[in-house]
Amino acid sequence: MNKNFIAGEWLDGARVSRNINPSDTRDLVGEYAQADAAQTRLAISAAEAAFPAWSLSTPQQRFDILDAVGTEILARRAELGDLLAREEGKTLPEAIGEVARAGNIFKFFAGEALRPGGEALPSVRPGVGVEITREALGVVGIITPWNFPIAIPAWKIAPALAYGNCVVFKPADLVPGSAWALAEILSRSGLPQGVFNLVMGRGSEVGATLLDDPRIAAVTFTGSVATGQKVAAACVARMAKFQLEMGGKNPMIVLDDADLSVAVNCAVQSGYFSTGQRCTASSRLIVTDGIHDRFVAAVIEKMKTLKVDDARKAGTDIGPVVDQSQLGQDQAYLGIAQAEGARLAFGGEAIERNAEGQPGFYLRPALITDTTPEMRINREEVFGPVVSVLRARDYEQALLLANDTPFGLAAGIATTSLKHATHFKRHSQAGMVMVNLPTAGVDYHVPFGGRKGSSYGPREQGRFAAEFYTVVKTAYTMA
Ligand code: NAD
Repeated sequence: MNKNFIAGEWLDGARVSRNINPSDTRDLVGEYAQADAAQTRLAISAAEAAFPAWSLSTPQQRFDILDAVGTEILARRAELGDLLAREEGKTLPEAIGEVARAGNIFKFFAGEALRPGGEALPSVRPGVGVEITREALGVVGIITPWNFPIAIPAWKIAPALAYGNCVVFKPADLVPGSAWALAEILSRSGLPQGVFNLVMGRGSEVGATLLDDPRIAAVTFTGSVATGQKVAAACVARMAKFQLEMGGKNPMIVLDDADLSVAVNCAVQSGYFSTGQRCTASSRLIVTDGIHDRFVAAVIEKMKTLKVDDARKAGTDIGPVVDQSQLGQDQAYLGIAQAEGARLAFGGEAIERNAEGQPGFYLRPALITDTTPEMRINREEVFGPVVSVLRARDYEQALLLANDTPFGLAAGIATTSLKHATHFKRHSQAGMVMVNLPTAGVDYHVPFGGRKGSSYGPREQGRFAAEFYTVVKTAYTMA
């Protein structure tokens, strides 16, 4: 059984969780220890005790550790990718790509440890100098979702450590395998005892303990809006710093002048790949009248070629949905959309067994047409391979529809018009805007995050990560 990592030791938990392969529910990926509130507090104590020394560790020490972690992740990308695909259900190439991203993120933040920056400037008073520096926060609580089991932990853990913080990491209950493998690498990396701690377990117990403990200086969270609101309320109540990355209802506009094959590829890629289980997935296609019917027909033709099968089988395009409850949610939204008058134009059937007879949570990607903006399918995040189409008169109406959502994570446009592309980049109310590219699939060295109901607090990743993981000090010196 794989254990929790607390104060430099591997500890059994209060309970055990079973990690099941969604491509074959007979396959037990492993058994993982689940921490309780008392063990979570033990991890916080260890991190608190380790903080004074770690916050003063040298940039060289942090660089060496983070760089070595990145090197090992990259070297083991095939093996770790196989584990990720097996426990989460994204395809093997997608999973290996995610692992490589995690490795690159560690290397990026290894470099950032060497470049803390700062400013020195003259005071407005004679003879006085001013220095502006960034310092570590203390113990950071990290709470992550199941859909990127190694990349999201990496993009929180690496900057937290690079800037001198200690970490208590709680991964999602559904995917402890990749989190444990990452923790195991960190456990051998030379980090002093207590700097990094892994507590696997339930959100309501382990997560809630992190939120309420006054020794946790800051909480970084990625997950659903409902949980994000709980994180915010708990952190505000004790005035802790927090950062939230949550859901999306990301639009992709397709204009009459779009290159049809580019538009179709972007839509299918970001709508259905990774089984549609990406916060940046395009779930609303907003298509102008002149191209609408041709575009819908071409998307359906492309969907017919997608192979839904075991995530680790060569040739699979779309792996299974992550679990029974997410599959139920996807199917429920198909029902809701049709009950509200939309048309299921393609797909949506659950496939109980693949060709080899493996029982899994397979769902044929679904396209829903004839929708209106107020339908729930256009307002609420499904988080599955379910995409809706909205018809628009022209670019101006398409832009209004794109921004007509409580979310604001990513938005895309397929067009050959420089004028419309430029206008869209300026007027989209999303944190990330893509022109002739899928809304999902982003670089690891630049800021990531959204607006409106999708995000709260500073951006993650790239140099902007320093905003969250450090606090600014202004020092005055009279020479
Ligand atoms: P979730 O909110 O159910 O869980 C996220 C994490 O919070 C898990 O680790 C969970 O155990 C924990 N948690 C649950 N209840 C808690 C509580 N009361 N206190 C503290 N922690 C608690 O989300 P999920 O189902 O794992 O992930 C899917 C969601 O994540 C989707 O909405 C998706 O859009 C979002 N997501 C957003 C981004 C982004 O960067 N914007 C990226 C990936 C996923």
